[in-house]
Amino acid sequence: MAEYSPMMQHYLATKKQYNDCILFYRLGDFYEMFFDDAITVSKELELTLTGKDCGQEERAPMCGVPFHAAETYINRLVSNGHKVAICEQMEDPKLAKGIVKREVIKVVTPGTNLNAQALDETKNNYLFCIYYQGDVIGVSICDFSTGDYFVTELKSENELIDEINKFVPSEIIVNEYFAMSGIDLTAVNEKLNISMSTLENWYFDEDSSIKKLLSHFKISALDGLGVKDYPTGIIAAGALLTYLYETQKSDMSHIITLTPYTTGKYMLIDSSSRRNLELVETLREKQKRGSLIWVLDKTKTAMGARALRSMIEQPLINKDEIINRQNVVEELCNNQIDREELREYMNPIYDLERLMTKISCKSANPRDLIAFRNSLEMLPYIKQIIGNFKSNLFKKYYEDMDDLRDIYNLILSAIVEEPPISMREGGMIKDGFSAEADELRRAKTEGKEWLAQLEERERNNTGIKNLKVKYNKVFGYYLEVTNSFKSMVPDSWVRKQTLTNSERYTTDELKHLEDVILGAEDKLNSLEYDLFSQVREHIATQVVRIQSTAKAIAMIDVFASLSVVAMQNNYVKPKINEKGVIDIKGGRHPVVEKMMNNDMFIANDTYLDNASDRVSIITGPNMAGKSTYMRQTALIVLLAQTGSFVPADSANICIVDRIFTRVGASDDLASGQSTFMVEMTEVANILRNATPKSLLILDEIGRGTSTFDGLSIAWAVVEHIANTKLLGAKTLFATHYHELTELEGTLDGVNNYCIAVKEKGDDIVFLRKIIKGGADKSYGIQVAKLAGVPDVVIERAKELVTELSDADISQKAKDIAQYSQKLDKLNKEYRKVDELEVKQMSLFDTVSDNDIVADIKNLDIGHMTPIDALNTLYKLQEKINNRW
Ligand code: ATP
Repeated sequence: MAEYSPMMQHYLATKKQYNDCILFYRLGDFYEMFFDDAITVSKELELTLTGKDCGQEERAPMCGVPFHAAETYINRLVSNGHKVAICEQMEDPKLAKGIVKREVIKVVTPGTNLNAQALDETKNNYLFCIYYQGDVIGVSICDFSTGDYFVTELKSENELIDEINKFVPSEIIVNEYFAMSGIDLTAVNEKLNISMSTLENWYFDEDSSIKKLLSHFKISALDGLGVKDYPTGIIAAGALLTYLYETQKSDMSHIITLTPYTTGKYMLIDSSSRRNLELVETLREKQKRGSLIWVLDKTKTAMGARALRSMIEQPLINKDEIINRQNVVEELCNNQIDREELREYMNPIYDLERLMTKISCKSANPRDLIAFRNSLEMLPYIKQIIGNFKSNLFKKYYEDMDDLRDIYNLILSAIVEEPPISMREGGMIKDGFSAEADELRRAKTEGKEWLAQLEERERNNTGIKNLKVKYNKVFGYYLEVTNSFKSMVPDSWVRKQTLTNSERYTTDELKHLEDVILGAEDKLNSLEYDLFSQVREHIATQVVRIQSTAKAIAMIDVFASLSVVAMQNNYVKPKINEKGVIDIKGGRHPVVEKMMNNDMFIANDTYLDNASDRVSIITGPNMAGKSTYMRQTALIVLLAQTGSFVPADSANICIVDRIFTRVGASDDLASGQSTFMVEMTEVANILRNATPKSLLILDEIGRGTSTFDGLSIAWAVVEHIANTKLLGAKTLFATHYHELTELEGTLDGVNNYCIAVKEKGDDIVFLRKIIKGGADKSYGIQVAKLAGVPDVVIERAKELVTELSDADISQKAKDIAQYSQKLDKLNKEYRKVDELEVKQMSLFDTVSDNDIVADIKNLDIGHMTPIDALNTLYKLQEKINNRW
């Protein structure tokens, strides 16, 4: 077999190094792709597939894109989940001896792409690194475009999936062991369109990870970062940083700190609840319009929009922190003029965080610096206004904010108002910034004049009347003196050339002018580039001040937005209690009321506590507003814990640790689950993970199966939730199984509510008002009629409904309720006896070591997942600890 051509050998060697990437290989004015890359890319980007001689019999498949348009193509490939390695020419091909030197200068991946067109400015672009170790999962997350960098540790697959759903990263990198863990992220990845890759083990070497972190942050011990409690997380953080260095090959000084966080610091909202509550996008269309953030986002800056989004995604559970936030919103509501002024000043502020990243990575162009300067111009005004505010957080933002005057002045003096995008063609540095640049610039425009002046002066000084300054390519500029005037030439002049009729001379001044004028443009262009780079580098060194200012601006923007929304929509400041009471008067659904765009929304009260009002069974016709009511309660609680005001007449909210929602039917065919399976999986998750401090929103449990199975499941679920020994969480439970209303009076803490309607002949009028008591009809047929189901079908349904009277079921339900009541009584009595017996037996009833050994012997270790193993170990320990 013939050898590959030298260039192709280099290509193949490079491709081997970047095997998981599409290699963009620079050849002249094009980036070319070869072999499989060419085939893939030609299909995805609809490029013509050609071939290139490569030393073999068959030509190598090839396709290419012009280098000046490469970004668009790279973005498309990256958003399709590919990684693109860019192999650049490192020397001028005209000057190269042998094959041109080429090197990979950068790898663009979904989680590291900085291209503005590829990024949504209102969303963070996260890279998520997982280091799976068995019992503990180290996690590190970074938004390379802003420098945000986090570390934490998680304990279970569920927690991991919840974190992924919270951050919605565009790329996940994992260690090799993760692939063997049995945790399957395929479904999540597909749903969220995340690209995932496995990194080699060396990325996750503990020593190297720590060294990488130490050298990046230029510190001698990790203590200063406060990440000591996350030994596994640190390895993930180190691996992530190594990956960034490997792919970006550039300065990353904008990543100034690694922030540890614990998932326990925030309210836990599992992935399906996140979707169901439509926090940042709607369930069906996946659009912002119709989501909670759509109502709340009145931010003026991209940084603010991102900060608001992450606040909504992570409500707080600490009372003081919530109240601190509320105070800021309140102060802004009470100082509307100042707030509007602040918002006015924030209008022209660009995305300082992402601009800063571009500056650090040396990809910011002169226009970026002008945008940066225009943003900085506003800072002193903003700082002055917030200096007058009293709340704690405002005081902190005031401290964190630097008006950055020095940087503003630097850019103001260095860069022209309307610079070109290109940095290589000059025209960007202002007059007066550099004497050298000024002279070069003048040389370009005034050079001819200077020569004429010199000619005139020398003519007068010497008296040589026909003295001329002339130019040719070989000798440059010279003074030409005809032979008749030769004797008048001063001694200081230096002869350059002798011709038949004349002599040519030069002088020090002329030489200097020649240097200045000749190549002034080239010199000016490269000097301007150097000056621009110096300015950019200087700004990069100020990253800490700039980032903390950007963060403060983002938060001020968020709170101003929350305050505007609160005032425009008549929200109130909720009280926060620790007594376990949720008491909402005149609550409204923030999104539905906004969608209605008038005052048609009917407000409703909610009351839940830890005692007699734990579980509300909500019945009522289809379309009555049950789902809306339940979701509004969840959203009001969530908003309150975010620090926002809430849509209600008054609200007193206890802090809930988790919100779970199970709403409506949704297939998950992509992950191979039927409607009912999805429903039951969600129910299982809720029952296993909810605590007495959680808020549960359960809508139509058991609807996806046969009536008896469904009713029985729904019934058993309510029993389980209401039982304080088993769960006892605050719950809103909507159902069309009217039989469940029998549970009021049977189970402690369970109450019936229904949504009122008025019957008008054959039709119904929705009153949307929640009232005490249960409904006995669903009016499904009336709603079907409203929806336009043909009359013949409606009439037939009416006939059938009378035939299939469900009296049977209702009677059975009554029987069960009575039976439960009896059982409950008996249980209470038995319990008394049990307690007595337990006391008596306690002296003798011990769990022996043999029992524990037998338990261990019986374990089927081969079929256990690490999580099963952990759980089993936990149970065994509990058995030992609890033995009498
Ligand atoms: P189903 O049992 O069929 O699922 P539902 O009782 O859950 O119905 P919702 O989906 O909550 O009913 O509400 C139906 C529609 O009624 C909503 O889309 C909304 O337009 C309107 N609606 C609900 N609550 C109110 C309210 N409080 N004020 C005004 N309109 C409301």
